[in-house]
Amino acid sequence: MFKIIDGKEVSSYIKNSVKEKALELKNNGEEITLAVIIVGNDPASRVYVNNKKKACEYVGFRSLEFALPEETTEEELLSLIDRLNGDDTVNGILCQLPVPKHIDEEKVIDRISPDKDVDGFSKINVGKLWLGEYDLAACTPMGVMELLKYYDIDVCGKNCVIIGRSNIVGKPMAALLLEKNGTVTICHSRTKNLAEVTSKADILVAAVGRAGFVTADMVKESAVVIDVGINRNAEGKLCGDVDFEAVKEKTSYITPVPGGCGPMTIALLMKNTLIAAEKQKKS
Ligand code: NAD
Repeated sequence: MFKIIDGKEVSSYIKNSVKEKALELKNNGEEITLAVIIVGNDPASRVYVNNKKKACEYVGFRSLEFALPEETTEEELLSLIDRLNGDDTVNGILCQLPVPKHIDEEKVIDRISPDKDVDGFSKINVGKLWLGEYDLAACTPMGVMELLKYYDIDVCGKNCVIIGRSNIVGKPMAALLLEKNGTVTICHSRTKNLAEVTSKADILVAAVGRAGFVTADMVKESAVVIDVGINRNAEGKLCGDVDFEAVKEKTSYITPVPGGCGPMTIALLMKNTLIAAEKQKKS
C-alpha cells in the first residue's frame, strides 16, 4: 500500500518553525528581510513573487519588492544588487528568473553576495554544495530532502535516480542525495534506455517538465517516487511529470502534484533566509 507524501503538511511544519525563530529574533529587536527583484511582466514570475511575499508575511519577515521595467539595463540591475549586497538590513536577495533576454542571467546570479544568495544558485554556493560544506543550497531539491527526512525515508545505500540535469533541480538534487550516501544516477535527454535505468531506482526523482512522462513500466516495485515537475495537461489541469494514477500503486511513497514538492520550495526559501540572517549575525 502506497503512502502519499503531503508537501502541504511538511511545508507548514517548516514555515512554522521558521516563524517561531523569526519571532524570537523580533523580540530581540532583530528583523529578517528578504529582497525580491522582478524584472519585466512575466505573469508566472509575478505569481511566484506574490507567493514569496505572502510566505514572508506568514513567517514574520519583512519583504522588499523591486519591480523593475522590462527595459531595465543589465548595469541598472547589477547596481541595485550591489546596493542590496551592501545594505546590512537586507539578509536575503533573490532575483526572480527568467530575466529579460538582454540581461545575462549568470552575471546576475553571481553578483548576489553568496551570504545573501538564498536561492543557492551562485557559483560559490554550488561549489560549497558539491564539497559538502553548504549552508545555502537550491530550495527545490532541499525541499525534497526535507520531505524524505519527514517521512523517515533513508537515502543511505539506496539507488537514487534523477531524471533531469538542470542547475536548479537535477544537479543540486544529485549532490544532496550523494551527501546522504545515496548511489546516484542522473538521467537526461541523451540517456539511453531510460526505463531500464529508472526501473532500478529505490528513489526516483522526476524533474523533466513533461506531463505524464514517468509511466508505471519505468518504476520499480515499492520505489519512492518524487515528482518535481509542474506542468499543465491537455485539459489545462496542473500536473507533474509522473503518471500519478498509473504509478502510485507500484510505489511505497509518492508525491502528488499539486501538494507535493511545490509548497516545499517556498518553505525552503524562508528557511534559507533565516539561515542567511543567522550566519550574518555571527560574522
Ligand atoms: P529544465 O528544462 O531546465 O530541465 C529539464 C531536464 O529534463 C533537462 O536536464 C533534460 O535533459 C531532461 N529531459 C528532457 N527530456 C528528457 C527525456 N526525454 N528523457 C530524459 N530526460 C529528459 O527544467 P527544470 O528547471 O529542471 O524543471 C523541471 C521541472 O520541474 C519543470 O516542470 C519545472 O516547472 C519544475 N520545477 C518545479 C519546482 C518546484 O517548486 N516544485 C521548481 C523548479 C522546477
